[in-house]
Amino acid sequence: MIPFLDLKAINAQYRDELVSACTRVIDSGWYIGGAELAQFEHSFAEYCGTEFAIGVANGLDALILTLRAWIELDKLQEGDEVIVPSNTYIASILAITANNLKPVLVEPDLNSFNIDPNKIEEAITDKTKVILPVHLYGQLADMPAIMDIAKRHNLLVLEDSAQAHGASMDNKKSGNWGDASGFSFYPGKNLGAVGDAGAITTNDSELADTLRALRNYGSHEKYKNIYQGVNSRLDEIQAAMLSVKLSHLDTEIMHRRKVANSYLEGINNPAIILPTHEDEDSSHVWHVFVIRCEQRDALQAYLADNGVQTLIHYPIPPHKQQAYKEWNDLSYPISELIHKHVLSLPIGPTLLLEDVKKVIQLCNEFKL
Ligand SMILES: *Cc1c(COP(=O)(O)O)cnc(C)c1O
Repeated sequence: MIPFLDLKAINAQYRDELVSACTRVIDSGWYIGGAELAQFEHSFAEYCGTEFAIGVANGLDALILTLRAWIELDKLQEGDEVIVPSNTYIASILAITANNLKPVLVEPDLNSFNIDPNKIEEAITDKTKVILPVHLYGQLADMPAIMDIAKRHNLLVLEDSAQAHGASMDNKKSGNWGDASGFSFYPGKNLGAVGDAGAITTNDSELADTLRALRNYGSHEKYKNIYQGVNSRLDEIQAAMLSVKLSHLDTEIMHRRKVANSYLEGINNPAIILPTHEDEDSSHVWHVFVIRCEQRDALQAYLADNGVQTLIHYPIPPHKQQAYKEWNDLSYPISELIHKHVLSLPIGPTLLLEDVKKVIQLCNEFKL
């Protein structure tokens, strides 16, 4: 079986480094909010090119807490509208509704899968306060266009960078375009911990301070609570694991690009539509390699029969989820088409190029 993503093999590459980092933490006697977190926050901010990185428990919390911090800082209030793509992973939307803000779904561009800047402006009302673009599948959204709209309408921008660590455009990385950005270090993400973890990056010191309090019971100083905060901390073990993984991230991205370019050059079945990316190679870190095929379910079954594991990102669009019953009758045709036709081929930093060749050959031999 060619696995979709071999997490065990990925972490096995760094086993000695990970084990020694883990031992260091165990032996230190300090497990929350110490030197490992400070070190990782410093290196991750530096990697993204931002002034600050604030570690939290997961990617969803990174998004929830950033919106919450803007509410605490009076930049947002309950009922304000947040523009978000209609074809994102559910977490981007949950972060909005968790704060009693109103998601306004905007359709993506069919080719890039990312929010269509031309449709953002039509969706702006007096209540719009934030644009929340998602760098879906590892490709930066059209940030120059989005930042221009945000500036003209005086909107905040919160990037969802959970799938796009290291993607860059005009030498500016994901996480350093908007007013703030949420990252996930879920094990399967391009920068993955050995458990749950997340972070926010920003250049805004007031926001960074507020987030540091919110993640820790609303407190900067022990037993002195200025907000009704939460417990959402990135612990020392995960921070230590992430420092190891971060040092290898660029090498892993290079391999992902190699795999993606092989697919792009090798797959020539007219029934399969390949993903597009910007001219600038750096804009895509290929978290997943997503093709479109009208006979998606047949293609997936055929690949499985031939020993290739694939996944669907995602089978149900947010507006068709039971959790958002009130939207079930709305129509977002581009998102619906995407969810019906997409299939994610195996890709990852340890995927063998000979396995990539096999997948390409199978794709090219696929007939109905
Ligand atoms: C994974 C992901 C998240 C949430 O991250 P968790 O760490 O799982 O909470 C948010 N947004 C997107 C687009 C994601 O892919």
